[in-house]
Amino acid sequence: MKNKSTLEETKHLMLAIQLIKLGARLQLLESETSLSRERLIKLYKEIKFSSPPKGMLPFSTDWFLTWRPNIHSSIFMNIYNFLVKNTELRGVYALIKAYQLYLEQVGIKLVNTDDEPSLSLTRAWTLIRFVEGRMLKMETCHCCHGQFIVNADDLNQNYTCNLCNVPSRAGKTKRVKENSLKAIEEVAYS
Ligand SMILES: [Zn+2]
Repeated sequence: MKNKSTLEETKHLMLAIQLIKLGARLQLLESETSLSRERLIKLYKEIKFSSPPKGMLPFSTDWFLTWRPNIHSSIFMNIYNFLVKNTELRGVYALIKAYQLYLEQVGIKLVNTDDEPSLSLTRAWTLIRFVEGRMLKMETCHCCHGQFIVNADDLNQNYTCNLCNVPSRAGKTKRVKENSLKAIEEVAYS
């Protein structure tokens, strides 16, 4: 944090606080703010009353393609793309707004610690990087016309989404499908 103005430093501090409250891990904080690792750890402890989880992020693209995570990832990505297309929000600020709207959409309030969102903020951040890195992309389901996350390397001709092609092991499928489709449609047509 050398040669930074007080205002600039405050901006990064506020950003870090917001990200920590939304569940960001250290790697995300280090990447998106210019605060030192020591400062971020101290801040994290003050806000969360515990140390940040250690180690590298274990995420691969596979996680985003499994049934439930894929639906949540797709809802988030629809919101994120909508914001980037229709607002001035970019980068980490688009991430934050899209994630807040995603939480609203799936009915999760982070103040209730029992409510663990399927897609964490750090995973949402990783998802955007995978899409920007062209490892994952959005594809239109030929059945419901919703946009879903798919592997960019797969042939996705006549792609059928996870909601239109529900595996038998997914419980409460009808309700999940209806709610998720509604969420995706709301974003797509708002
Ligand atoms: Zn579909």
